[in-house]
Amino acid sequence: MIYDAVILGAGISGLSAAKFLKLGGIEPLIIEKNSYAGGKAHTERTADFVIEEGPNGFLDNKPDTLELAEKSLLNPDLLRANDKAEKRFIFSGGRLHELPFSPAAFIKSPLLSFGGKLRLAAEPFVRKKYEDETLADFVKRRFGKEALNKLIGPMATGVYAGDPDTMSVESAFGRIKELERNYGSLFKALIKLKKSSNAAAFGGGRLTSFTGGLSQMVGGISKGIGIRLNCRALLIRKDEKLFIVETDSGEIKTKRLISALPAYTLAKIAVGFDKELAETADIISYAPVDVAAFGYNRKLELDGFGFLFALDQMNSAIGVLWDSSIFPRAAAGHSLIRIIIGGARLHHMADKSDEEIINIAKEELKRTMDLNVEPDLIRIIRHKKAIPQYLMNHKDIVKIIDEKESRNKGLKIIGNAFRGIGLNDCVSAGKKAALSMTA
Ligand SMILES: Cc1cc2nc3c(=O)[nH]c(=O)nc-3n(C[C@H](O)[C@H](O)[C@H](O)COP(=O)(O)OP(=O)(O)OC[C@H]3O[C@@H](n4cnc5c(N)ncnc54)[C@H](O)[C@@H]3O)c2cc1C
Repeated sequence: MIYDAVILGAGISGLSAAKFLKLGGIEPLIIEKNSYAGGKAHTERTADFVIEEGPNGFLDNKPDTLELAEKSLLNPDLLRANDKAEKRFIFSGGRLHELPFSPAAFIKSPLLSFGGKLRLAAEPFVRKKYEDETLADFVKRRFGKEALNKLIGPMATGVYAGDPDTMSVESAFGRIKELERNYGSLFKALIKLKKSSNAAAFGGGRLTSFTGGLSQMVGGISKGIGIRLNCRALLIRKDEKLFIVETDSGEIKTKRLISALPAYTLAKIAVGFDKELAETADIISYAPVDVAAFGYNRKLELDGFGFLFALDQMNSAIGVLWDSSIFPRAAAGHSLIRIIIGGARLHHMADKSDEEIINIAKEELKRTMDLNVEPDLIRIIRHKKAIPQYLMNHKDIVKIIDEKESRNKGLKIIGNAFRGIGLNDCVSAGKKAALSMTA
């Protein structure tokens, strides 16, 4: 049998591609090595808790994930984060500081020193730079060292589990670099875009998920799509017209092939097809992350989204999510917290034993929140290769990937390793790949 389209990997990227292919009239087959679809987006449900193993949700300021939810009949179960989750904190100088979002709150906040505030306020007077640079260099140049340590460094680490000293600002935060190039200053850009009521161009959006967690979205999208679970892709070959995928349960022939695999897997299986593609994918490194989920059979005072550590306070954990304060993730009278440990700067921490991870998580909760209550439920979720890192060579990597796609009709290479790590980015890349095949 020759398939019209085969997708490798049933993470959100692969599922999005599959759904939009199907909507465009092409029946795809997905090959997935796990016994479940969703990849990093996977939820465990117990009687009292809804525990996300990876992502919490997506921002609703981009249309594609909402469209995917709508077309998968998931809209009635869309869940927006609580209003109180707007409150976010930074652990710095031995205590939690609420992040100031208005100019008045910023002036009053003790998070930054007077000198740090002045340096940040001088941003409009800093000369623009066209070339790419590391995130740390960009932030130090435009906003100063303190802003890197206490504001932007923690946020970048929170999103990418990355290291600001090695991340490329252009590849990881392209929009910000673009605003600098176009407006000369990010503050000037903010004011101009606000005036033209285009503030959404700066980001924003509300964190959104589903009552049953992200696995509910995965289940909704998967309905009616052919997914071969427990099937591992081993090698890609190509003859004159077809792609041939060798799997651990036989060979599959297809006219169109979408890889939605992690880069390190693509690197292994593309060897039989294109050595340069394999070598290029192999360059991408990943940061490891462990998630310690603690459930409590009591109501804790959790008022906000949670907190991130200032870079100079980041000993083992990147941040702490107050899950049951963001979404209804715990039964009445219960609470759920997730502690995120490791990341590129602290990658050795993610290798600790379960017992050590639990102790680290407990110590961090004590140090930061003065929380000394034993959890009633503990889950340790390991993501050995959690998030791909967009480093200074990333745009050259993506250029080669683009070239490979244009030289091989019927081939698309998506997944979070290349053109964005957020769920929204993954969904958009999947949709774009599918539309290019159905147009
Ligand atoms: C802890 C954590 C928290 C996060 N939080 C957020 C968040 O709140 N919001 C957000 O937008 N993003 C978040 N992210 C990022 C986001 O979850 C990921 O970027 C996204 O889910 C990746 O989707 P994907 O389909 O590209 O890759 P994956 O989910 O990794 O899917 C790849 C799939 O390929 C399969 N596969 C691998 N090898 C083979 C093979 N040989 N044959 C067949 N199948 C194979 C895998 O089993 C997997 O199912 C988070 C990530 C992590 C790790």
